[in-house]
Amino acid sequence: MLNSSKILSPYYPFGNDEEGGRTLPIHALGILGARGSTVVSGEQFTKFGGATTSFVMDTNDPTVCIAIDAGTGVLHHDFSKYNTVHMLFTHMHLDHILGLLYLPIFYSNHTTIHLYVPSYYGFDSFAEMISPFLATPYFPVVQDAFSSKIVFHNIDIPEDGSVYRFPINEVDVLTRKGNHPGGCVMYRLNIEGVGSHCFTGDYEHNLQQDAALIEFAQNADFLIYDSSYTQDDYIANYIGWGHSTHEHAVDIAKAAGVKYLILSHHHHLYNDKFLDAVLRNIRQKFPNTCFAYTGLYLELLNKAGVACKT
Ligand SMILES: [Zn+2]
Ligand SMILES: [Zn+2]
Repeated sequence: MLNSSKILSPYYPFGNDEEGGRTLPIHALGILGARGSTVVSGEQFTKFGGATTSFVMDTNDPTVCIAIDAGTGVLHHDFSKYNTVHMLFTHMHLDHILGLLYLPIFYSNHTTIHLYVPSYYGFDSFAEMISPFLATPYFPVVQDAFSSKIVFHNIDIPEDGSVYRFPINEVDVLTRKGNHPGGCVMYRLNIEGVGSHCFTGDYEHNLQQDAALIEFAQNADFLIYDSSYTQDDYIANYIGWGHSTHEHAVDIAKAAGVKYLILSHHHHLYNDKFLDAVLRNIRQKFPNTCFAYTGLYLELLNKAGVACKT
């Protein structure tokens, strides 16, 4: 007889032993999704995955976690085990919020969800943020269905490129203006005496922005970088689209002195075979490089998750 709960069980790479998941160490950044622009699936995309951008990090308090972005990858984590989820957003493009409306914790009153959204969108509440989607003919769920306790935070990202910071428990959250159409926030999570994760969000390189990023990412343990394209593809097709390249990521990583470079936001048409070849090439230039994928985690204390070694 079929076990329906098994069939219905989602894929949780971290913390679900029955499904073969691994424990996510405290302060390790768990990659839940790393695909850019849109979801992909199929046997050519099994290694680096098809779910879009979302990360999670457990804090010293086991009832509290921090998430960054809510692409479809956010559905690959059991957030119901926390009392409080702090969800940081880089920007509102669909590939970074699509998982939000399907996340079970939004439909229960068990969890308090803190949302951190750039103030330049002008939203004053979660309702304002999602109302464009909660409308016929785009989505059938009405606002009242969201029964969770939501605390909405506007974060003021300085236009002059200076850093805005705020604490979440023991984590010092630093933000800085990035470079992407419509705006994007770069995040750095510093944990005193432990280490740091730095994430560019969606990011297109240019001289002025690169100087700010290099300063922002200085000596980070992990730099997670928007490397949607190869350099050749970028030059031929994608200048001005708001994303960067694997090759440019290496230049930034070297200039910033980071320990590990994590390439993310993979182009939706780059399959595993293609990305494997790119990775071999990039590691010749910066050996401590990994491609992000669902299930990879980035452990601090100068160690990468074992899955990083492909
Ligand atoms: Zn994106
Ligand atoms: Zn974007």
